[in-house]
Amino acid sequence: MFDQFNRNITYLRISLTDRCNLRCSYCVPTEGVKLMHRTSILTCDEIVEVVKIGASLGITKIRLTGGEPLLRNDIIELTKRIKSTTGIKELGLTTNGTHLAKYAKQLKEAGLDRVNISLDTLNHEKFFNITKGKLLDTLAGIDAAIEANLMPVKINFVRIKTVNEVDELEVKTFCTNKGIQMRFIRQMNLETGEFYPVDGGDGGVCSLCNRLRLTADGTIKPCLHSNYGFNIRELGIEEAFFKALRMKPEKGTGSVAHQFYNIGG
Ligand code: SAM
Repeated sequence: MFDQFNRNITYLRISLTDRCNLRCSYCVPTEGVKLMHRTSILTCDEIVEVVKIGASLGITKIRLTGGEPLLRNDIIELTKRIKSTTGIKELGLTTNGTHLAKYAKQLKEAGLDRVNISLDTLNHEKFFNITKGKLLDTLAGIDAAIEANLMPVKINFVRIKTVNEVDELEVKTFCTNKGIQMRFIRQMNLETGEFYPVDGGDGGVCSLCNRLRLTADGTIKPCLHSNYGFNIRELGIEEAFFKALRMKPEKGTGSVAHQFYNIGG
């Protein structure tokens, strides 16, 4: 599937839910979250259908994100069905890691290839201040992912000005010691269109962008930094794909329609 700037779109990032058990300061807006109605959230069958049609149009790579994707109780079934879809070669997951100790082995068996885990500090108190969660849960998740061979395990480190710049080196050493990779992400602001390429990742370079995004309520978005979105329940899946493809901007500008927690980072 080629867009009007001749970029071959092969990658679909799927937000499985806008719910999260953590409250990361850079992700949750200060005015609080406005959650989608439960009935708006796509079912397992609907997501699999989007993947099937996406694959028939040229999608080969999927990433599951959120919200926290491991809060979905059908996560294993979803993983199995997505990975066994004809044409899907690669399946990744972005998670805060808190539920990975429970799921890593089952996810691997279900066909998940690899995981990115968010970790912004190794200081327990600071971790709590940033996320409102427990560092030990995420650390247990990282070990479980390595044990289950969900490789390469990658750590997403969001640089938060004046908060965790001093923790970077410690997290980097931690990753080196564990034989895992680290990606530095500068804190972005979707509303103002403030975004950056990800160091050590392939996101953020518009000329190379091969992505579309599916929100948890079925909206296909052409770009993280765009207000356009096309709902599969209103338009039908194929039409929503084509409309998003047509509206994929040459460069991201800004989005007030969605935030990281409900479009998926
Ligand atoms: N709950 C999962 C997690 O914590 O990884 C997946 C969803 S979270 C929205 C996915 C990624 O979004 C995080 O790893 C983080 O890097 C990124 N993210 C969220 N808010 C961001 C912001 N303001 N700037 C840059 N990255 C952000």
